Amino acid sequence: MTSRRVVVVGGGITGLSTAYFLDKRARERGEAIDVTVVERSKRWGGNIVTELHDQFTIDGGPDSWVAAKPNATLLAKELGLENSIIGTNEETRRVYVMHDDELMLMPEGVVLGIPTEVMPLAKSSLLSWRAKVRMAFELLVKPRVWRDDDDESVGDFISRRLGAEVTDRLAGPLLGGIFAGDAHQLSVRATFPQLVDAERKYGSLIRAMRAAKRKAAGKSSGAQSSAFLSLRGGMGTLINALVGRLGKATLRLETTVVSITANERSRVSRYTVNFDDGASVEADDIVFAMPVHVTARMIRALDQEIARDLEQMRYASTATVFTAFRRADITRPLDAFGFIVPRSAGRQFLASTWVSSKWRGRAPDDTVLIRLFFGGAWGEQVLEESDNGLTEIALRELRSFLGTKGEPLFSRVFRFDKASPQPPVGHLATMARIRQGLERWPGLHIAGSGVDGVGIPDCVRQAETIAERIVGARQA
Ligand SMILES: Cc1cc2nc3c(=O)[nH]c(=O)nc-3n(C[C@H](O)[C@H](O)[C@H](O)COP(=O)(O)OP(=O)(O)OC[C@H]3O[C@@H](n4cnc5c(N)ncnc54)[C@H](O)[C@@H]3O)c2cc1C
Repeated sequence: MTSRRVVVVGGGITGLSTAYFLDKRARERGEAIDVTVVERSKRWGGNIVTELHDQFTIDGGPDSWVAAKPNATLLAKELGLENSIIGTNEETRRVYVMHDDELMLMPEGVVLGIPTEVMPLAKSSLLSWRAKVRMAFELLVKPRVWRDDDDESVGDFISRRLGAEVTDRLAGPLLGGIFAGDAHQLSVRATFPQLVDAERKYGSLIRAMRAAKRKAAGKSSGAQSSAFLSLRGGMGTLINALVGRLGKATLRLETTVVSITANERSRVSRYTVNFDDGASVEADDIVFAMPVHVTARMIRALDQEIARDLEQMRYASTATVFTAFRRADITRPLDAFGFIVPRSAGRQFLASTWVSSKWRGRAPDDTVLIRLFFGGAWGEQVLEESDNGLTEIALRELRSFLGTKGEPLFSRVFRFDKASPQPPVGHLATMARIRQGLERWPGLHIAGSGVDGVGIPDCVRQAETIAERIVGARQA
C-alpha cells in the first residue's frame, strides 16, 4: 500500500498540531502516511515565540490560551505537559482601564466587558451616570431575531445592547484588544459567537453572564480554574513538545512554498508543491496553515474565486515591547494583570501586561517584567518606528503611568507583521463559500487563525478536524 502524502505549509501551532494529529490518527488506524511540514522561517512556532533571558521567561507573542476552549489543554496533556500547565496569579486578577490619563480599576463582575454585578459598576467613575442607567436598561432591550446569515460588528452589538459608552470604555478595548482590532469592524458572529448565543438564549447579556457566573461558581480550584492557562516554561514549550513528537515527519525549516500546481489526472498524486529553492514535492493533500492572505496567493493560480474570498480577510500588524526593571525602581504597585487603553484615550499603544504580576515565575523576585502592545487595526502607524523608537515610546509611557525610574534592565521588541486576522462582518458566510469552493479541489485544506477562530485552541481544534478528515478519507 502506498503512503498518503500530505504537505503541511506553515510551522506554527496549526501546522505542527495538524502533523501531530495526522500521525496519531494514522497510527491508530494502521494507516501509512507520509507527512512533510514546510516552514519559511528559521524556527518553529509562528506567532508563538518564547525567549529566555537570564532568569526571565518572555512570551513575545501569545502568552496563554482560553481555558474554556478545551483543545489546547487536551493537546498539552497528551504531550505530557500536564504538570507544566499554570493558571494566572489569583492575587492580581484584575485589570485597569486608562481613563482621563489615569488608571482606573475595571469594576468587579465585568465579564468580557459586560457587567454581572450592579454595585461595583455603580460606584465606579469609569462610566458616566447616563451610561450606567443605559446599561441597566439592557435587561429590557428587545433581543434581535438572528437568522442564519445575519451578522453585526462587535461594537454595534454591544452599543445596541449596553450603550455606546460601554463599547468605548469597557467592551471595545477588552474585546477588540483580544484581536488587536477595531470593535466596529469585527464580526460578532465570528469573534464572540457566545454573545449572540447569550442574546438568543437569555434575551439579555447581563442575564446570560450572571447565569454563566452562577454555573462557574464552586467549580474546581487550582491552576485549571483560571480563565487563561499557560505553560511554566512559556508557550514555546508546547511547540518544542510537538516538534519532539514529529520524528517520523519530514520537517523543512527555511523553506518557502512559492506555488502549488494541480497535476494531470494520470499522475499518482494530485498536486505538486513548489519551494523557493527550486525543489518540489508531490502531495495527495495540502494543508495551508498560515495567514489566509498568503494562502490566497497560492490558490489564485488554481481558483480565482476562492482566492478572492480569502483576500477579504484583513490582517493587522502588531508589536510587543518588553522591558524589565528592578522592583525598587517602580513607584506604583503592579497589583493587576495590567491595563487596557480605549481608542478614545488617544495613546500610541493598546495595552500593557504586567507579566511578572500576571504569571508567577516569569521574572526574578526583585524585578518586574512589563509588556506593551503596539499596533492593531487602528494603530499601525506607530509600527513604522524602529525597534529603538518603539522602546523609547514604551519607556516614556511607563514613566508616566507606573513611575518607573532609571534605566530598564533590558528591553526586547517582537514584531508580528500582518499576523492578527480581523474577521469582518459576514466572515462566516465567506468561509462557508470558501469551504464549498474547496470541494472543487479534493485534497486542499485551509486552517489557522484566519479561518475558524483566532485563538490557539481554535487552531488546535481545526488541526484535529483536518487530520481526521484526511485519514478518514483514506479509509472511506
Ligand atoms: C502578538 C500576538 C499575541 C497573541 N496572543 C494570543 C494569546 O494570548 N492567546 C491565543 O490563544 N492567541 C493569541 N494570539 C493568536 C495566536 O497567535 C494565533 O491563533 C496562532 O498562533 C496562529 O497560529 P497559526 O499556526 O495558524 O499561524 P502562524 O503562527 O502565523 O504560523 C504560520 C506559519 O506559516 C509560515 N509561513 C508563511 N508563509 C509561508 C510559506 N509561503 N511557506 C512556508 N511557510 C510559510 C510562517 O512563517 C509561520 O511560521 C496572538 C497573536 C499575536 C500576533
